[in-house]
Amino acid sequence: MKVFKDAKIIDMCSGPEPKRGNIIVEDDIIVAVNYNDIEIPDRAEEICLAGKYILPGLIDCHTHLCMTTTLFELEQGIGQMDDNNISFFAVRNAIKALTGGVTTVRDVGGQNYIELKLKRFIEAGHIIGPRIYAAGKVITTTGGHLWKIGEEADTEDEIEKAIKKQVRAGAFLIKMIISGGVLTASSQPYFLQYDVPLIKRAIEVSHELDRKVTGHIGNKEAFRAALEAGIDCIEHFIPEDEEDLEIMVKKGIFCVPTIVTYPLWASSAKRWDAPEFFLAKKKKQKPDYKRNLLANAYKSGLKMVAGTDAGASYIPFGHIVDELKIYTECGFSNYEAIAAATSLASELIGETRIGTIRKGNWADMIVIEDNPLDNILALRNPEIVVKGGEIIFQGRPNIYYKQRECHE
Ligand SMILES: [Zn+2]
Repeated sequence: MKVFKDAKIIDMCSGPEPKRGNIIVEDDIIVAVNYNDIEIPDRAEEICLAGKYILPGLIDCHTHLCMTTTLFELEQGIGQMDDNNISFFAVRNAIKALTGGVTTVRDVGGQNYIELKLKRFIEAGHIIGPRIYAAGKVITTTGGHLWKIGEEADTEDEIEKAIKKQVRAGAFLIKMIISGGVLTASSQPYFLQYDVPLIKRAIEVSHELDRKVTGHIGNKEAFRAALEAGIDCIEHFIPEDEEDLEIMVKKGIFCVPTIVTYPLWASSAKRWDAPEFFLAKKKKQKPDYKRNLLANAYKSGLKMVAGTDAGASYIPFGHIVDELKIYTECGFSNYEAIAAATSLASELIGETRIGTIRKGNWADMIVIEDNPLDNILALRNPEIVVKGGEIIFQGRPNIYYKQRECHE
């Protein structure tokens, strides 16, 4: 038994005021959150936090553990590297996520189920890493976006089979590539890969198997098709029209805007000589435009959840707080931004035992020095990371901050 003593608790389930108290953890579960009396069981190991802030571990709802952060076309890029090498990158990414305070990831596109094997190794305690809720291979068209690591499916029958294969491998959700993407040379974000009947079939099959479907969306046409087909969540795309926003809010459809990709691409693509095809596609995308969309969607009440696209080209793990910072610049309160990476993220995943500090939940928590409700960047580099009741580290693990991305 452990007691996290004398903490300022931001539990993300009882309002935005930090409350002083103790958190009692038995094995991997929070057994009590004690705000008033300070009764501490005799046999407990005490971790005195002396008024530091404690929050639920962060959740990154859009990652790719099996990507290397280099470009698609390069030797180490997406789908170019063999499974043995990718496994090491996946372990590196998992460690980097966890030491940055991310105790859970929703992985939306792996390679050859390595992320699902990694999940089992983490759960067995062989490797440290976040909890993993993974989609397995993305469902894409022949030669479509991410085809090198995806399951190619063009017809209703092929889609059904592709989805069943992901579920058989242990996928928790299904990711469908509905429009093309920036990172595949043969693809354009403006392509529509699947029409409404095909998306509908994918959703039908997935729901029968109790899996949610999320869509990679790069344009309005793909968004409208996904919305009409009844998708559960959209990735990357932020709707603009009031009518669309209203439908999403009414139906409770989530959006994972992954907006931090824009500043990261802008700063790194120049530094690392990005190839022409990538720069040409990026030129068409205007980051300020995305911020305006985000601010507009926020006002409508759309459920927006934090994801970074970590692993994808030029997007290292460790930028979840930068994503939240952008939310605060677009109208979110700090508390709402934190909810996008904790309580609301748990709602999207459909796992109630994460994202809040409350009795019965897994003891996944981070300890930080300053109040993140005043300064969101205080969430960076937590001092203590606890996952499943284990103190993963106490004090900052400098080795991980010196870690290089492979394209540096
Ligand atoms: Zn992605």
